[in-house]
Amino acid sequence: MTVRTRFAPSPTGSLHIGGVRTAFYCWLFAKKSGGTFVLRIEDTDQARSTEEAAAGIQRDLRWCGLTWDEGPEVGGPEASYFQSQRLPIYNGYVEQLLASGHAYPAYETREELEALRKEGEANKTGFRYKFRPYSAEDLAKFASEGRIPVIRLKAPAHDITVKDLILGEVTVLAAELEDIVIRKADGFPTYHFAVVIDDHLMGITHILRGQEHLMNTHKHVGVYEALGWETPQHGHLPLIFNPTGSKMSKRDKAKEAREGAKKAQEERKKGGHHPEDWSWLALASGLEVGDVASFMRKEHDRIPTAEGIARVLGLSLPMIEVLDFLKGGYLPEALVNYMALLGWSPGDDRELMSFDEMVNAFTIDRVNRTAAKFDGAKLKWLNGEYIKKASAPRLLAALGQYLAVVDVPMKAATEAQLLALIDMYRDRSQTLADMEVSSRFLFVRPTTWDEKAATKVLKGDGFEKLVGCMAALVAHHGPWTAAALESSLTPIAGGNLGSIAQPLRIALSGTPVSPPIFETLAFLDRKEAITRIQNCIHHFEGGV
Ligand code: GLU
Repeated sequence: MTVRTRFAPSPTGSLHIGGVRTAFYCWLFAKKSGGTFVLRIEDTDQARSTEEAAAGIQRDLRWCGLTWDEGPEVGGPEASYFQSQRLPIYNGYVEQLLASGHAYPAYETREELEALRKEGEANKTGFRYKFRPYSAEDLAKFASEGRIPVIRLKAPAHDITVKDLILGEVTVLAAELEDIVIRKADGFPTYHFAVVIDDHLMGITHILRGQEHLMNTHKHVGVYEALGWETPQHGHLPLIFNPTGSKMSKRDKAKEAREGAKKAQEERKKGGHHPEDWSWLALASGLEVGDVASFMRKEHDRIPTAEGIARVLGLSLPMIEVLDFLKGGYLPEALVNYMALLGWSPGDDRELMSFDEMVNAFTIDRVNRTAAKFDGAKLKWLNGEYIKKASAPRLLAALGQYLAVVDVPMKAATEAQLLALIDMYRDRSQTLADMEVSSRFLFVRPTTWDEKAATKVLKGDGFEKLVGCMAALVAHHGPWTAAALESSLTPIAGGNLGSIAQPLRIALSGTPVSPPIFETLAFLDRKEAITRIQNCIHHFEGGV
């Protein structure tokens, strides 16, 4: 059997790292078996799917190095790989199931279904929709009201047992099954239907997906049985938890932003501000007042709202989406490596593993059954290790991608400068963002100086040494390189390099920390270095 796996995201938002893990396990399993990895965009929820999200998911998967053998852009025998473009296919199978008596139209309105559900709750019987024959009058009434039916599939009359590759046997009793909707009133198939049709037509042999889908599988088995198709193998991956034990989700961003906004509102309340009035926050963030108010009432968890609020209040939101990690200065190879270890282990204590090593080591039986805890500190450490061992061209490319999505002074750096920064900072940076923050002074001339450190460093003969350095730099006519600058300045140090390095650091960066001083000087061009030293001398010449 040739293994075929698929990743089937719904484009209702950006790709989060749980999705990356699912995609990666599918990718690993396909590669390991010499099989095929398919990407399919499940965009049948018309109200929530967007083209932008679909494009973003593909971009993020590519950034992670997870390319697909069949799917959007690359094509394949079952194209299109967008479900919204496959309606005639699903409709053909709906017709077939209607004709064979497996499926039927159902006319209940939302309110009627809600009433049935409530009744079930009240009787403590629960409510599971099962075939309810209509009388001729009912049907006439529905027609006169212009009701458009959904199509439901009759549930199997027997218990369903799924042999999950990770969790073992999971049985759902016949009494628990209901007649699921397979086509909605808008003519689109439901997820439960389209997923089965496509997994079958695309020849998927192994469905690996998150445990949140475990209780959907028996519904899908009902569809496979009704169509007389063989059910593929399923494996449900462990959930990912926050360190606090809650399920990690995009909603965490909303939670955090809401908490922060509530605190800020508390402060305002003390000044007599109305607790429900969010216009100040909307105004400051450029969001609609109604959007902020409904967000605060927990009516939605939209990420742009959470991010707008966080910007105004200076909150840092949890990193969950792939883009957060790109913006945070993570290398995709570190992120993917970490995600691989979140729910799976190679069976030994290896942590840093290349894609090839992971492909070789991957087996489904070493995927954990229980939830995994996301450990941001560990990921950061791993990222630091990747930065240390990456080649300069690799880091240059990674910096290019990082700088394309953040707004920082380093954006102005030339390629030669970026290479110099890589040299200076790679061993002391766990993320590219660390590198950016620590080197920011090289792009932004200091206008203030750390007074405490300056007092310490410039008192005694520190100030004179700085003046001496400036004179030597003005007189320096060799190349502006670390080595040449070192030979011009060393005589001033009188055998104690620190005696010039620290005053120079204060002058060049405003702080007592920088990478090796001659590299730092060489990075800044002659004019800039001299201007900074002059400014510092002017500032402190009245005495420190
Ligand atoms: N479109 C579903 C989702 O994004 C796919 C689930 C599955 O893999 O079957 O959750």
